[in-house]
Amino acid sequence: MSSILVVDDSKTFGALLKRMVERETGCDCVWAKSYAQCQSVLEAAAEPFAAALLDLNLPDAPNGEVVDLALSREVPSVVFTGELSRELREHIWSKRIVDYVLKEGMHNLDYVSRLLKRLLRNRGLRALVVDDSRAMRAQVVSLLRAHAYQVYEAGDGPHALGILDADPSIRLIFTDCTMPGMDGVALTKAIRKMETMQRTVVIGVSSLDESSTTVGFLKAGANDFITKPFQTEEFYCRIGQNIDMMNMIEDITNMANLDFLTGLGNRKYLFETGRKLFASQERGGLHLTAAIMDLDHFKRVNDTYGHEAGDAVLKHFSTLLAGRFRESDVVARMGGEEFCVVTVNMNAENALDVFDTFRRDVANRPAVYDGREIPCSVSIGVYTKAAGSFEELIKAGDDLLYQAKEQGRNRVVVG
Ligand code: GH3
Ligand code: MG
Ligand code: MG
Repeated sequence: MSSILVVDDSKTFGALLKRMVERETGCDCVWAKSYAQCQSVLEAAAEPFAAALLDLNLPDAPNGEVVDLALSREVPSVVFTGELSRELREHIWSKRIVDYVLKEGMHNLDYVSRLLKRLLRNRGLRALVVDDSRAMRAQVVSLLRAHAYQVYEAGDGPHALGILDADPSIRLIFTDCTMPGMDGVALTKAIRKMETMQRTVVIGVSSLDESSTTVGFLKAGANDFITKPFQTEEFYCRIGQNIDMMNMIEDITNMANLDFLTGLGNRKYLFETGRKLFASQERGGLHLTAAIMDLDHFKRVNDTYGHEAGDAVLKHFSTLLAGRFRESDVVARMGGEEFCVVTVNMNAENALDVFDTFRRDVANRPAVYDGREIPCSVSIGVYTKAAGSFEELIKAGDDLLYQAKEQGRNRVVVG
């Protein structure tokens, strides 16, 4: 669990911040009331803080010294200040802070809460900066690192494509326009052949005198563009908006495909993914196996221990299931207390071994709810032969599950 550091000498404001941080982020919050206290907190911390909210004026550090202290420990820092002159603003931005916030009224706490949530969520998100100018690249890289992104850099388009190919988890790309060989617009087009606008944000960078290229960027599939030279704040606003949008789309997609209680794939996800797998099986020598699982006498669990305990059993079972199968297989909650695993290239003998081990695990590791162990077993039907369609595969697994129930439950039937 990550912690967040608050440094503020004001009793009311510090307490307000601490409460807001804990409520909004769910993180622990450590509140230091002076520079000296901050120093000892940082020294004593077992793990680095995920972020810091820092008061620029402390009685024992009146000139923002605490910012240098936090940044020297690489803690992403948000700065609070009562007033802000142009010089002071430029000065604190030059330190590579996350953002600054004026201490003027409650509405700013909303802003800070959103800022922290974004920072926590995007921590470690992978970004790629493409620019032939080393200086420009360094500037953008350091701005992104200040917000805790994990950053790659490339000096030209082909190199950038190589990095993307090697690490498909990259979600944010900044590309300059004019580069030798492949320009930024051509690079954007090439990226869009691999990744959608919803999954990977591309932001084009062009100079003032290249206004026609901004249109080129957008037509090639860039999410946004920024004109250099740019203000640090504009840079962060553009990234923030685009990443928020990407995250929102990801959340909506997940909501539509994931089961709310267990976090496993839902029925829609199972059939959509399953049909695709089935189609690729027909093309290329894959072999699919479907295991349909149903918890035994689950109604009794609810009747004996209550519905909430039943939910806890479903979650516990899902954790065991995901822990055992999730990597390469399709794992889903089909509904109620019925689950499905579709695995690739598993023969009948293997299947009995794997699913029977899992069945025994379930019986031996009961869920614990309210300090009580709740025993529960599972019956499993595993269909390992060829089927005419994905639906038929599932149906065949279901028939074998029925046999497992008929034969006395807590067993695996393979066919
Ligand atoms: P069998 O061994 O034949 O499968 O018996 P069973 O009692 O498990 O089967 P039955 O289909 O009669 O009952 C399933 C029960 O699962 C009934 C329903 O209330 C419960 N159930 C379904 N979804 C949920 C859920 O999300 N949470 C909880 N707590 N219970 C659920
Ligand atoms: Mg059941
Ligand atoms: Mg059932």
